[in-house]
Amino acid sequence: MATERLYYDDSYSTRFTATVVDSRDPLRVYLDRTAFYPNSGGQPADTGSLNASRVLDVIDESNRIAHLLDRPLESAEVTGEIDWRRRFDHMQQHSGQHLLSAVLAEVYGFATVSFHLGADVSTIDVEAKALDLREIEERVNLAVYENRPIAVSYQDDLDGGLRKAVEREGRLRIVTIRDLDRSACGGTHVRGTAEIGPITLLRTEKVRHTLRVEFLCGLRAIRRLRQNLDAASQQLAEQSERLAAIAKARQKAAVELAGYQGREAYQSAPRLRRTGAIDEEARAFAQAFTANPGAVFLQVCLDPPSFLLAVSPDSGIDAGALAKSLVAAAGGRGGGNRQMAQGGVPGRSALDSILATLSKQLNIEP
Ligand SMILES: [Zn+2]
Repeated sequence: MATERLYYDDSYSTRFTATVVDSRDPLRVYLDRTAFYPNSGGQPADTGSLNASRVLDVIDESNRIAHLLDRPLESAEVTGEIDWRRRFDHMQQHSGQHLLSAVLAEVYGFATVSFHLGADVSTIDVEAKALDLREIEERVNLAVYENRPIAVSYQDDLDGGLRKAVEREGRLRIVTIRDLDRSACGGTHVRGTAEIGPITLLRTEKVRHTLRVEFLCGLRAIRRLRQNLDAASQQLAEQSERLAAIAKARQKAAVELAGYQGREAYQSAPRLRRTGAIDEEARAFAQAFTANPGAVFLQVCLDPPSFLLAVSPDSGIDAGALAKSLVAAAGGRGGGNRQMAQGGVPGRSALDSILATLSKQLNIEP
């Protein structure tokens, strides 16, 4: 007796009752009817339970369906329960495949020659040399939003009108996506294209004369996107950290170098005036320069108008007091200690007049 396939007419039914018709092998049982989808047509089998037994695998023996159990049944009357999350995920991937293959055929004229629904990704093999994944992905997702009804019907004759030719004889189960696709298929599908959810095309790979397209539908697509986003931000954070460490090391080296240059510059002249930004490097240079006897160092920055004055302890000059009095008179701000001071003034003319005074007092020429 052939097993009645309840999933043919209602892929949303997850609970059913049935009678055991063959359990000669107690771990391989046959029922008069079942809602369990067997491994076939590229779609993996359902899992779930028959009474207290776990259904580990479901095998299509063409006429009958075998349920492989983890332990024997204790009754001939059973209640079956399908793992709905797994089933619905398969319905999404499988219906998504119909839609993707239909778009590839309708819009591009590319035939799909095979389908595999994997635990991780699904694939179709397409008779094409190259595919624009970005464009196809947009088109197929637009077809999702159109929420075209997906319906099952039966016909006895091969009247054509099917996307893919069928060689099988007898009554055919036809799955129709309204105004888009008619395919002979025994799988489980969602009611309308919107239930497929987002479809994302991951990559293609040449397989013999076809192009294998990896894709994900529904929650699988969302989860992959989340995974990729998390990985990308993690990577970005690590790179930022590395960059910050490099910048810090570079800055440390620059300050050290400025120190060497300061000591060396003193060898050519004990009094020096130069132009440049007043920063950590300038201060390291000034410190090294004025670690020598009788040294006077003045660094001038034009923008913003400011200066750095450094002197050696034996110079007899109080850099802080001098800078403070000069900037106060020019309406600026500044100060420091006896050896090093800096100041800023509101404009270039104020800076010029301070520099003129300093050059004269310190006997330091540009
Ligand atoms: Zn199908």
